[in-house]
Amino acid sequence: MKKQSNMSQLMGYAGGHRYLTYLSLLLSAVSAVLALFPFVFLFRIIREVIAVAPNYAQAAHIVCNGWMAVGFAVLSILVYVCALMCSHLSAFRIAGNIRKALMAHIAELPLGFIGEMGSGKIRRIVNDSSAATETYLAHQLPDMSAAITTPVCMIVMLFLFDWRFGLASLLPIVLGFAAMFKMVGPQMAKDIKEYQNALADMNNEAVEYVRGVPVVKTFGQTVHSFARFKTTIDNYYKFAVGYCKKCRAPMLMYTVFINSAFAFLIVLALILAGGGPVTQPILLNFVFYVIFTPIIATAMSKVMYMSENGMIVADALSRIHSILDAEPLPEPRSGMIPTDNDITLENVTFRYTGGTTDALHDMTIRAGAGETVALVGPSGGGKTTVAGLISRFWDVAGGSIQIGGINVKDIPKETLMDTVAYVFQDSRLLKASILENVRLARPNASRQEVERVLHDAQCDDIIAKLPQGIDTVIGTKGVYLSGGEQQRIAIARVMLKNAPILILDEATAFADPENEALVQRAFERLSKGKTVIMIAHRLTTIKNADHIFVLREGQVEESGTHNALVARGGLYARMWQDYQTSVSWKVGAAK
Ligand code: ADP
Repeated sequence: MKKQSNMSQLMGYAGGHRYLTYLSLLLSAVSAVLALFPFVFLFRIIREVIAVAPNYAQAAHIVCNGWMAVGFAVLSILVYVCALMCSHLSAFRIAGNIRKALMAHIAELPLGFIGEMGSGKIRRIVNDSSAATETYLAHQLPDMSAAITTPVCMIVMLFLFDWRFGLASLLPIVLGFAAMFKMVGPQMAKDIKEYQNALADMNNEAVEYVRGVPVVKTFGQTVHSFARFKTTIDNYYKFAVGYCKKCRAPMLMYTVFINSAFAFLIVLALILAGGGPVTQPILLNFVFYVIFTPIIATAMSKVMYMSENGMIVADALSRIHSILDAEPLPEPRSGMIPTDNDITLENVTFRYTGGTTDALHDMTIRAGAGETVALVGPSGGGKTTVAGLISRFWDVAGGSIQIGGINVKDIPKETLMDTVAYVFQDSRLLKASILENVRLARPNASRQEVERVLHDAQCDDIIAKLPQGIDTVIGTKGVYLSGGEQQRIAIARVMLKNAPILILDEATAFADPENEALVQRAFERLSKGKTVIMIAHRLTTIKNADHIFVLREGQVEESGTHNALVARGGLYARMWQDYQTSVSWKVGAAK
C-alpha cells in the first residue's frame, strides 16, 4: 500500500515517460526468469553424467546443454541491460523534474521560510533526497521486480524437481525471513526517520560550525565549544551504534540460515538414504539442489533490502514534500501600487513558527517618506524581525504593515521587491564577475550604468586593483575582497536597483577605518532621498537619524531623536553613556 503511494508519487513527476519505468520492471522480471534457465540445463547435464557413469564418453548432450546454459545466461544479462537503460532514462528525468519543481517552488517561498528551514537542509533535500529517488528508480525498483520474480519461480522449480529437497531448502529461507522480520518490522520506519533526522541535524550544525570556524580559531577553542554541533554528532553516534547493536543478532541469524541450505539438504539426503547406499535419483537431486540453493541467498538479500529501500525513498519523498507543501504567501488578486514611500507598522504582533513567545508584540513604528529611521536596542529586541516583515519575509499575525498607506499584503510581489531593497549585514556576492553581481539588481542595465553605481558606491579602488576590472570573477584564485569591499559592491548593486525604500542592516565594525569610512560614504550616497530603516549597531552612525526607535523584547521601549532620547535618561541614554565610555576607553588604551 505504502509502496504503491511512493510509486504513484514518483510517477507524478515522470510526465509522458512513465511507461519506461513499467517497461524496466517487466524486462527485469523477464531477465530474472531467463537467469534460472541455465540451472535447468545444468540439471540435465548432472542427470546425464550420473546416468552414464562411469562411461562418460556416452554422455553426448553435455556440450549442447552447456551452450544452452551459456546462451540463456547471456540473454538474461542483455535483457537486464535493456531494463537498466529504460529505468535510468526515466529515473534521471524524474529526479530532474523533482529538482526543477523544488527550485521553482523555493523561488516562490518567502525568504523567512528559507531562513527558518536553514540553507543546509534545503540543499540536502534538493540534492540528496532527489538523488535518493534516482537510485531507487534506476536500480532498486528493477532489482525489486527481479527479487520478487526469482523466489516465485524458484519455489515452482524447487517443487518441480523433488518436493522433499524443495522443502528442505525452503526451510532455511522461512527461518531467515522470520529473523529478518525482527529487523525490518514496523519499528524500522521509525528508525530510518530518526537516522535521517540525526543526519540532517548534524549537517545543519556542520554548516553553522564552518561559519563559526574563524571565531573558534581566534579564541583557540576546540570543537567542544560548539556544543550543539558536538551534541548532534554524539546523538548520531549513539543512534548509529544502538541501531547496529539492535540489528546484530537478527542479521547474524538471517545470514546463517540463508547460507545453511546445504546443511538441511545433507540431513535430508542421509535420512532418505536410510542408512543404505545413496540411490542415483537421490544423488542427482542432492547435487542439483546443492548447486542451486546458493542463489537463494543472493535473491533473498535483495528482498531483504526491498523494504529498507522503500522506506528510504518514502522518507526522501516526505522531505521533498516538506518544501513543496509549504505555501507561498498569498498574492493579492488585484494588487495596489503604493504612490508614497512612508512606512507604518501598526500594532504589529508576530511569532516565529515554533517560537514560544511573540518576537514582536503590539508594535507601532512610523517612518515618513524620505526619512531615516534607526532601530536600536539590545540583541533579540526584534530589529531584524521588523526589517524582515517590511520586506514580507513573513506575514504578520496581528496588526498591519503599510507602505504609502497600502497594506504590504495588497502589493504585488514584484512591486514590493522593486520598492524595498534590503542590504544584508553579510553581503551576498555570487561567484561571478563584479559586473554580473551588480547586474543581479537589474539584468538589463548597461555597462556604463554599472560603472557609474560602482563609482558612487566608492568602489573605484577595488576595480583598479583587480586584473580584469569589473569583469573579474569574485572567488577565483588570487581574487580576494575584504568584508568592507564586498559590502561596497553590494551597495552598488542596491544603488542600481534604485528602490525608494532601503533597509540597511549595518555591518558590525570592519577592521580598517579607511574601509569603514568608504562604506559610510557609500551608504550616504545610497540613502539620499530615500526612506531608510536602519538597524544600527554603532550609535554614532545614527546620531543624525530623523527618528530612533529603541526596541526591547519585541516592544518599543522609547522613541525620539537622539537629543530627546539622551535628555530622557532612559535605556537609550544608558546605551549612549556606555558607548561613550567604551570609545574613551579604546582611545585611552590606544595611547
Ligand atoms: P534583533 O535583531 O533585535 O537582535 P531579532 O529580530 O533577531 O532581534 O529577534 C527577535 C526575537 O525573535 C528574539 O527573541 C529571537 O530569539 C526570536 N527569533 C529570531 N529569529 C527567529 C527564528 N528564526 N525562529 C524563532 N525565533 C526567532
